[in-house]
Amino acid sequence: MVKPGSRGLNGAGRGNPLTGAPVNGASPTIRRASAAVPRAVKPDHFDFLVVGGGVIGISVARALRRRHTSARICLLEKESAPGAHASGRNSGVLHAGFYYTADSLKARFCREGNRELREYILSRGLALNPCGKLVVAKDATELPRLDELLRRGTANGVRLEMVDAAHARRIEPRVRTHERALWSPDTATADPAEVIRSMRSDAEREGIRIRCDASYLGRTEEGVRSAAGEFRAGYVVNCAGLQADRVALDFGFSKDYRILPFKGLYLYSDEETGSFRTNIYPVPDLRNPFLGVHFTVTVDGHAKIGPTAIPAFWREQYSGFDRFDAAECLEIGWRDLGLLLFAGFDFRRLAYEELRKYSRSHLARLASVLAEGVRPENYRRWGKPGIRAQLMHLPTRKLEMDFVLQGDSRSFHVLNAVSPAWTCSLPFAEHIVDCIGHHRR
Ligand SMILES: Cc1cc2nc3c(=O)[nH]c(=O)nc-3n(C[C@H](O)[C@H](O)[C@H](O)COP(=O)(O)OP(=O)(O)OC[C@H]3O[C@@H](n4cnc5c(N)ncnc54)[C@H](O)[C@@H]3O)c2cc1C
Repeated sequence: MVKPGSRGLNGAGRGNPLTGAPVNGASPTIRRASAAVPRAVKPDHFDFLVVGGGVIGISVARALRRRHTSARICLLEKESAPGAHASGRNSGVLHAGFYYTADSLKARFCREGNRELREYILSRGLALNPCGKLVVAKDATELPRLDELLRRGTANGVRLEMVDAAHARRIEPRVRTHERALWSPDTATADPAEVIRSMRSDAEREGIRIRCDASYLGRTEEGVRSAAGEFRAGYVVNCAGLQADRVALDFGFSKDYRILPFKGLYLYSDEETGSFRTNIYPVPDLRNPFLGVHFTVTVDGHAKIGPTAIPAFWREQYSGFDRFDAAECLEIGWRDLGLLLFAGFDFRRLAYEELRKYSRSHLARLASVLAEGVRPENYRRWGKPGIRAQLMHLPTRKLEMDFVLQGDSRSFHVLNAVSPAWTCSLPFAEHIVDCIGHHRR
């Protein structure tokens, strides 16, 4: 039952700080669900209510369970199963932790996250490919950035080795690099869909109630309103990924931020298993949060090229007009136009470069800089796309590089849980629960 004074997903009357237009309402999924909100007679009460069943939501719920053994904990997921978005659609790379400056949350949790997630995967008998990673330079201009990655990795306590080109070829016979390459033995790959299924089973076994098809619709005085009815909540934790900024607005947070979706596409190789031994990455542009088109060796030994970072026009624009939302498309289109004209980073170049990657032959050509024998005819199959929930800081029109956390004594909001949040998820969730503990004191 909707209580007087309860607020909608975005809070009535708040405007988009860029356009002055009202902030768009719920996603298509959320709106459809709102038409048939069941009217619970007496809302269930939970000590902790987590919104979002991705790897962060499930890990936070499990970390809360470890600290509060008798607490009632419920997780609301809008889809029919957890992991339908980034957590089930990512590259599956357990990053080692050398891209991030030592003062960042990403650096703080990546190395340990890699270790803990690897242990988790092995302890549950799930598949892991400990294939490592080479970061390669295409010419002499990239060598200083390769050195910078080594510096960052060393500061973060990550195992790394600068190897010459001959050594790099012993690791991966097909690799192309200029003079030297950075070898990361601790990078690995796993199947993210398998991992999230396992985490869901663990959570349910630990007494966490997982309600699927239960889209969060808005805040009430005592808790939240969802497609599965109303819930009273002692504390709300927002881990809603692509929708996290909207949920946060209802609680008075994320006012200076909006999520800008970027689509990641993968192109699969038809070459046989084992055609690549290790992941091959280019030296990234360290000013933006994307790592560039690379080769990933999947957990079953196949190679894929990607992901792209193509600006999407609505948050869940996975393919065609799937989950199309006209108002959201207008809002994001307007924001992209602002970025084309006034961005605090080179959005025009980024957008142009990324849109070209819709062409398979262009993507294969980019990948051929990293490895020998890349034939476009071997790359015909697009994989399942993923969409990055990239946060933009509205006043500066810049993309946030690190995870962003906001909260108070009633609610906590995980914003910008972009890559490598999957790798970081286990220690990151413990940190989130520490923060919640401080706020509730
Ligand atoms: C293309 C791509 C490649 C990536 N590769 C890697 C990688 O190799 N390694 C790595 O470490 N990281 C990678 N990442 C990042 C990683 O996938 C994310 O950081 C991580 O999955 C974030 O988890 P999450 O739980 O915050 O978000 P999500 O997995 O998106 O989960 C959010 C959940 O909230 C639910 N939700 C949303 N709105 C509502 C609502 N109103 N009510 C209820 N539920 C709601 C959604 O349905 C979803 O299940 C990649 C990401 C992408 C997109």
